[in-house]
Amino acid sequence: MGKIDTTNSRPPGASNRDMKYRWLTFPLILSALPAIAMTILAIRSYRIADSAWWNLKDDVHAVVLSNGKFEMYFQKVKPGAPFHIIADRGHRAQEPSDTHPGQSQLATAWEHLGFGYAAGTDQYAFKRIIVVPWWLPAAIVGLPPVGWVIWRRKQRTARLRAENGCIYCGYSLRGNTSGACPECGSPCGMLRA
Ligand SMILES: [Zn+2]
Repeated sequence: MGKIDTTNSRPPGASNRDMKYRWLTFPLILSALPAIAMTILAIRSYRIADSAWWNLKDDVHAVVLSNGKFEMYFQKVKPGAPFHIIADRGHRAQEPSDTHPGQSQLATAWEHLGFGYAAGTDQYAFKRIIVVPWWLPAAIVGLPPVGWVIWRRKQRTARLRAENGCIYCGYSLRGNTSGACPECGSPCGMLRA
C-alpha cells in the first residue's frame, strides 16, 4: 500500500489522456495574468482612467479604460479637413469620464447594458466608437485557465477512481473495506469492492 504520486511521475496504469496535455498548464496559468491585470485596472479606472493611443497620420486609434469600460475610438480625418492628426503613440492617466455612443450624432448610434457602438461621418472625419464592459475581455482571456483547472481536476478524479485511489489525497485504497480513507479520513463512497 502506498500513496499514488499525483504530481511528478506517471503512476502505472494512469490514463494517457490525463498526462498528455500537462505541458499546457504553465502557458494557461500565464494566460490568467492579463485577466487579473484587467480586473485591477478596471477597479482603478473608477478613480484614474488609463488611455493608450497609437495614431497614424490623420488616423486615430485610442483605447480608454474608464469607469469599468473599455472605450475604443477610431477616427479617419478627411483629406480636406482644416486640421491634421499627428502619428504618435503613448499612454496617459486621466480623469474617468463616461462615453455614450448612443447619444452621439453619428449615423449609427446604439447603447445597451454597458455595451455601445457608434459609427458615421461628420463634416471632417469618419468616426467609430466601441464601448465594452471590462469583464468581457477579462472573461475571454480568463475562462480558458479556469476551465483548464476544472478539467484537470476532473481528469485526476477519474484516474484515481480507476486506480482505486482516494480522490482527495491520492492514497491507494486497494483492499480497503472500511469505507474511509486511512490517510485523510475522507469517506470513500466510490470504493470498489
Ligand atoms: Zn484520502
